Amino acid sequence: MSKRDYYEVLGVSKNASKDEIKRAYRKLSKKYHPDINKEPGAEEKFKEVKEAYEVLSDDQKRARYDQFGHEDPSQNQGFGGGFSGFDGFGGFEDIFNTFFGGGGSRRRNPNAPRAGADLQYSMSISFEEAVFGKETDIQIPKEETCDTCGGSGAKPGTKPETCPHCHGTGQISTEQNTPFGRIVNRRVCTHCDGTGQIIREKCSTCGGTGKVRKRRRIHIKIPAGIDDGQQLRVAGQGEPGVNGGPPGDLYIVFHVKPHEFFERDGDDIYCEMPLTFAQAALGDEIEVPTLHGKVKLKIPAGTQTGTKFRLRGKGAPNVHGYGVGDQHIIVKVVTPTKLTEKQKQLLREFAEIGGSIPDEQHESLFDKVKRAIKRD
Ligand SMILES: [Zn+2]
Ligand SMILES: [Zn+2]
Repeated sequence: MSKRDYYEVLGVSKNASKDEIKRAYRKLSKKYHPDINKEPGAEEKFKEVKEAYEVLSDDQKRARYDQFGHEDPSQNQGFGGGFSGFDGFGGFEDIFNTFFGGGGSRRRNPNAPRAGADLQYSMSISFEEAVFGKETDIQIPKEETCDTCGGSGAKPGTKPETCPHCHGTGQISTEQNTPFGRIVNRRVCTHCDGTGQIIREKCSTCGGTGKVRKRRRIHIKIPAGIDDGQQLRVAGQGEPGVNGGPPGDLYIVFHVKPHEFFERDGDDIYCEMPLTFAQAALGDEIEVPTLHGKVKLKIPAGTQTGTKFRLRGKGAPNVHGYGVGDQHIIVKVVTPTKLTEKQKQLLREFAEIGGSIPDEQHESLFDKVKRAIKRD
């Protein structure tokens, strides 16, 4: 299956600004979000949109994509990598990846202390939870030191023995004489698998690994103002260290579910409010929902569709504690589609007495239209 062009996926032009790309992404990701759209194929579309945005919103990745398309030689796995943790959407998920730590220099000295691996946990939260924060308990499966054997892996009452093949070093060295001198080859000891120890009788609880998988309850504080894709580091809650090394950290990555009325951009919140023609023409006071409760908003007479209003401090708190965002309201004048005979009659009268004469602000536009028609 060939991949669609990222610009085409987002429905923007090749020279779209960052803002246009962001708006297109917000609209489409909301449209196809699996929490909202249950149609078949919506989730694939959602992932496609997310992938396109990941590339086009990043200046470097976008430049490379513009140059090489989907066949970027520097990216052997393409741009599609890294979405594996994004499969489920309901509640707490058990998507676990051991991503770094632990592994790297494991064979060097089997007895040296090693830090435990970091863990990544994917968590879905509501729009409101992201704005206001929340304290909650999560249960994560984690590797812990086996209580039965104290982590040695040997049956209680027995001890692991030093591997006689590598004498506890975990490595076997072989020397080879060549015309150019002596070459020393080192390889991992296969008898002890590099641990330097042989366990004759294995602990029955952990099967000799010294570790057991447990579900562990952890209390976390989701900070107010967290946004989609941001992560929280919980120090010391990763996998346990080895040979007295420190434990790894736990990283919780948040996925914020979209709201049916509000949209969020950083600390600011956006919404659209419908206005009737009469409200827009005559002015009115309307009630606007905010996340902090209803707020009254004065609509001046003669308000045009698309006019923006701002409610200061009604957005999301900044996650780093730098104040609170605003709520932006974009009004939309709705043209009535179902009119009674009486309403139609009144509108005709309105037009006859000059109701369709535009105000000064729009006069020049109507003049231009007139001139364009004459020229034809
Ligand atoms: Zn054990
Ligand atoms: Zn060995």
